[in-house]
Amino acid sequence: MSTRVKIVTGAEELRHLCNEARKRGESVGFVPTMGALHAGHLALVTEAKKHATFIVASIFINPTQFAPNEDFAAYPRDVENDIAKLATVGVNAVFTPEASTIYPPGEETRVRVGRTAAPLCGISRPHFFEGVATVVTKLFNLVGPCTAVFGKKDYQQLAVIRRMAADLMMPVTVVGHPIVRESDGLAMSSRNRYLSAADRERALSLSRGLAKASRAFKEGERRSETLRSLVDDEVRVASDSVDYVEIADPETLVAIQAGQPVGERALVAIACRIGATRLIDNEVLGENG
Ligand code: AMP
Repeated sequence: MSTRVKIVTGAEELRHLCNEARKRGESVGFVPTMGALHAGHLALVTEAKKHATFIVASIFINPTQFAPNEDFAAYPRDVENDIAKLATVGVNAVFTPEASTIYPPGEETRVRVGRTAAPLCGISRPHFFEGVATVVTKLFNLVGPCTAVFGKKDYQQLAVIRRMAADLMMPVTVVGHPIVRESDGLAMSSRNRYLSAADRERALSLSRGLAKASRAFKEGERRSETLRSLVDDEVRVASDSVDYVEIADPETLVAIQAGQPVGERALVAIACRIGATRLIDNEVLGENG
């Protein structure tokens, strides 16, 4: 199925479009992305269609979530193909603003995030979640979605946004979608296109490590240091540097220290670099999918 997609670049134009949809009796679902879309992104759209009738996707590489030494300039851009892909899954409108539309001259307000943003990616990317929370707030305020869908691939991001939506009493239901993987286990990511064939092979260490921890957990292993080592051993030999391999509480994201057993569910989260490409992956042990 392919729908006619409305392309919107203006903020007020987007607000008007969504208001008109609601006046017609439609419910608005929203999927924010940074483009270079793959099947993982498209699965979020399909999920959004279960919750709403009028689906908006955004393609915006948000400058405030990148540090000066990160890959903002080199982040893959492929808007025409992205729009064609979104049409195949029935998106009604695509918002592709300029940076100056989202951050016009004189703007200065940021959403301050809390404890959920502090561990894991918050350590190596201290301003990342403030940038994410700010842009998502702006986008929510323009779209006014009843439902917004985010991927569990960015587990901490989903947790920060859930927290923000609850704390700031935003009238939106935040839905998390399972990680979509390639057939060999690699979590789909826009950044995977940077990987050479040899690097891609090395990148399989992330999902392999998670699978080992998952198997051990299913067989009854509850020592956090043992579960962590199973993942760490795989990832450390294959990658150029490791930001973290952590076993953490799936709700608070607080690390479970060595010597502390894990409970019924535990988050295993990885961030590392293969060549110049930063990859993340995770699994919640004790949870299906
Ligand atoms: P991005 O374009 O990377 O900012 O991602 C936009 C949305 O797609 C975020 O909610 C991500 O968590 C989600 N996403 C990216 N990759 C995947 C994947 N492999 N599976 C599920 N969701 C994903």
